[in-house]
Amino acid sequence: MKKIAFHWQVLIGLITGILFGVFLKEYVPYISWMGVLFLRGLRMIIIPLVLTSIISGIANIGNARNFGRLGLKTMFYYTTTSLLAILTGLFLVNQFKPGVNADLGLIKKVDGLDLMQDSFGGTLIKIIPTNIFEAFSNGDMLPIIFFALLFGFFITQTSKKSSVFMTDLFNSFFEVMMKITMFVIKFTPIGILGIVSKAISEAPSITEFAGRMGIYMLTVLVGLFIHAMITLPVLVKAFGRVNPFWHLKNMLTPLITAFSTASSSATLPLTMNAVEFKSGVSNKITSFTLPLGATVNMDGTALYECVAALFIAQAYGVELTIAQQAIVVFTALLASIGAAGIPMAGLVMISIILSAVGLPLEGVGLILAVDPLLDMFRTTVNVYSDSCGAVIIAKSEGEILNDKTN
Ligand code: ASP
Repeated sequence: MKKIAFHWQVLIGLITGILFGVFLKEYVPYISWMGVLFLRGLRMIIIPLVLTSIISGIANIGNARNFGRLGLKTMFYYTTTSLLAILTGLFLVNQFKPGVNADLGLIKKVDGLDLMQDSFGGTLIKIIPTNIFEAFSNGDMLPIIFFALLFGFFITQTSKKSSVFMTDLFNSFFEVMMKITMFVIKFTPIGILGIVSKAISEAPSITEFAGRMGIYMLTVLVGLFIHAMITLPVLVKAFGRVNPFWHLKNMLTPLITAFSTASSSATLPLTMNAVEFKSGVSNKITSFTLPLGATVNMDGTALYECVAALFIAQAYGVELTIAQQAIVVFTALLASIGAAGIPMAGLVMISIILSAVGLPLEGVGLILAVDPLLDMFRTTVNVYSDSCGAVIIAKSEGEILNDKTN
């Protein structure tokens, strides 16, 4: 029998969930456990996935030859564009307000919520754990990320024998975690069925629910569009000194692949090929920046993290202060860096932000249903930004690109 493509499976899960929630309410308790199990599965992988992703990423960068000027430039580009993406998302979510005053049946649950009352400074101080095992067992993501960054960096400072061994070891751990994640993600369709049927059966109004989800998706999509069609092209023109549409055309194959696979890592070989042979960036720069970019530089994911976390906060009726929004921006950046280049990794990472501002992790259930679709769009933007980065860095290193349209 021919296998049904994943996105169709998701759609079938979604529609069945909606039908159950609307017409077969009394049966929902018999299927909602599937959603609970799925969310537990996602939460199970968060800590080991983030830990191994960051340690192996940092150890690999540090061990790369030529790290130094090129590495710093690359990191600078990655953080700047991700921040620009997040700020675009922040602006839009505060304008569109997809979750404000939304009656989705969540607000009543906010009573007794352990909302983070710390000041911005307080949160920063707590990034340094006093006991890393306590951070692991409490799921405090910021201290875990801090420790992972340190650990990854100091792997590169050990003797050659140890650093090669440890880097290989963490690369292998990371590979295993990606396999486990892909395995858990396979259950998305039935997870969605369980979660959506419950959410719909409890939602005071279905049209309200659908309308709010629609505005949320629109907010993310408009943000991604602005970033890909305005921000990045302006940077490519200003600093890469090539015609952004010429570069965009060169990237069509990897971009379509990114859209259909929802995986930056799976798209990587095509991205490298297009950037090197169509846009004319040297092999030295493509092979340094793009593999790194596929896991570290995720502008689309960063924007989405910020919008999704604030949408969840709004839906719970929680108003975040400016300082808390600053924490969201900062953690969205970390989450996008820590996300693996595989489908729906961004969804797993939302927990980092929710835990940093003290929102319930169950909030992830709210955005799950539409995540596979948004994933396709944000992955396309992730890959496009990697390619723009390669062009800009190549230009800054004095390379001549293929653009004949200029
Ligand atoms: N799927 C995305 C990627 O591979 C990551 C994410 O889920 O945001 O780039």
